[in-house]
Amino acid sequence: MTCPGPAGPAPARPVAADAPGPAEVAALAVAVAERLGPAARSAAPLGPLTTYRVGGVAAVMVDVASEEDLLGLQRVLGELGAAGRLPVLVLGKGSNVLVADAGFPGLVVRLGAQPGDQLSAITLPAAGDGGPGGEGASVRVRAGGGAGLPVLARRSVEAGLTGLEWAVGIPGTVGGAVAMNAGGHGSDTAACLARFRLVDLAGEGAVEDGPERLHLGYRTSALGPAEVVVWAEFAARRGDPAVGRATLSDIVRWRREHQPGGSNAGSVFTNPPGDSAGRLVDASGLKGFRLGSARVSEKHANFIQADNGGSADDVRALMAHVRRVVAEVTGVVLRPEVKLIGFTPDGIDGDGDGDGDGDGGAQAGRAGPATSKGEPA
Ligand SMILES: Cc1cc2nc3c(=O)[nH]c(=O)nc-3n(C[C@H](O)[C@H](O)[C@H](O)COP(=O)(O)OP(=O)(O)OC[C@H]3O[C@@H](n4cnc5c(N)ncnc54)[C@H](O)[C@@H]3O)c2cc1C
Repeated sequence: MTCPGPAGPAPARPVAADAPGPAEVAALAVAVAERLGPAARSAAPLGPLTTYRVGGVAAVMVDVASEEDLLGLQRVLGELGAAGRLPVLVLGKGSNVLVADAGFPGLVVRLGAQPGDQLSAITLPAAGDGGPGGEGASVRVRAGGGAGLPVLARRSVEAGLTGLEWAVGIPGTVGGAVAMNAGGHGSDTAACLARFRLVDLAGEGAVEDGPERLHLGYRTSALGPAEVVVWAEFAARRGDPAVGRATLSDIVRWRREHQPGGSNAGSVFTNPPGDSAGRLVDASGLKGFRLGSARVSEKHANFIQADNGGSADDVRALMAHVRRVVAEVTGVVLRPEVKLIGFTPDGIDGDGDGDGDGDGGAQAGRAGPATSKGEPA
């Protein structure tokens, strides 16, 4: 079910010396909303578009359905002087983000809002494409950045392909998977990604490239915040649909047995080498621990669940509490996997270092790959 692929550390991203202040950001958001007219929504509720279902509004939001939409947006941002100055959040299914109760002050660009649009298309090889059509033959599958991962997995299997079954239990999009190097059940995006196309909303035109450019690591990539994955091409092989269907069923069953439902974003922390974050949280006595409207799942200790109508600030406070207690009890400093959006100051401890890990810029202790999400913890 796996295919070999590259991985490597992402280079550090330069920080703008003259970062725009809140007044400039607010003015740029208004200017963009005015220019886009009915295509844009101001003060758009963002929480309901995430799997945590908590959090505030986006200053301005636009749904994109095609590469032309993205290039049009790129032109507008350039003309208004907003490129690289108005913060941008590219949103797929919102299954790996926590949006602050205060909301996001910039532009949210959402893919996959309309199933069947160009950015959600999946192109499967016809029988015989990509060389000899026998079992084991290599083929490519192209999927739009807004295509759902479970749909990609199921359609590949039904087309007689193998290699992408692992994606069936991950409730995100192809673009989100590339950005996060999502994976589980013994494989990940890096192992299968062959090529991709992106539009940098702070740049010009569109580019196509190979996975080396992305420096995919354990749940990390070098994609910039305004770089939008238009499509990704994955390496797969011809296989037996009956075997593929059985694998999909096993994965779905495993997920139901081991992971909770409700409002969450999957694993909160990445696994440290040779261990699992869930085991460490459990060993620290935090399973079921509640803080306000957020609680550590009883079923899987690396999941935090938000109550209906709950607060993102509670979820973040619980993340910080869990990290602190696990460090005290086990000596391991966990690295957040969930992306924190719109929190000021940034970081899970609100330490303002901007890296979302709440450590003030220090490297998290013993961070690195171990078992993937979707494997027994
Ligand atoms: C129940 C549950 C189980 C999960 N299990 C797993 C698992 O087994 N393995 C795993 O790896 N993850 C898992 N996740 C987390 C999540 O589903 C993945 O990280 C997924 O790839 C995120 O996709 P998304 O479309 O929801 O991205 P979002 O949450 O919308 O965004 C996540 C990041 O990707 C960026 N992004 C999104 N779309 C694009 C795009 N088109 N171009 C560029 N950047 C983009 C965003 O800007 C953001 O930085 C799980 C989540 C849940 C809720």
